[in-house]
Amino acid sequence: MFIGHYAVAFGAKRYSPDISLGVLFIACQLADLIWPNLVLLGIETFNIDPGNTAITPLDFNHYPYSHSLVGLVIWGVIFAGGYYFIKHGKFKAASILTIVVLSHWLLDFITHRPDMPLTFSTATRLGLGLWNLPAVAICLELVLFGFGIWLYTRQTRPRDNIGTYGL
Ligand SMILES: [Zn+2]
Repeated sequence: MFIGHYAVAFGAKRYSPDISLGVLFIACQLADLIWPNLVLLGIETFNIDPGNTAITPLDFNHYPYSHSLVGLVIWGVIFAGGYYFIKHGKFKAASILTIVVLSHWLLDFITHRPDMPLTFSTATRLGLGLWNLPAVAICLELVLFGFGIWLYTRQTRPRDNIGTYGL
């Protein structure tokens, strides 16, 4: 998934208004922020395979550390733990950040072909393959993104024009 991930960040603001939108954005996209670094380090790999799905030619053949369910639990705990440490003990906020990090797996599971690992072993890989139905996938992304912005604007009150138009 692409912009649909941000819907979770926008929506999470309702449950923990103290967390900045920037931190929530990092949390929802943490997997995709880690992944290119692990690729550059040669730890994870992908191939270019035109037709792999209708949306993208990327064949995610090995990305268990950035995109497995177990990996994202660990990254979520590390990220939320760092937030908890820096913010001096906001446990609820840290718990929500962990969930936001984990949400990446669920949304990618919906769109990716069965390439989403459960564990660091790549034996079990799952995915519903919505990227093979581009019109449905794009509609879902837009609806999720719009819904997230709607939730966010209902929950927050802008202080100035930057907040009004730039969220
Ligand atoms: Zn991803």
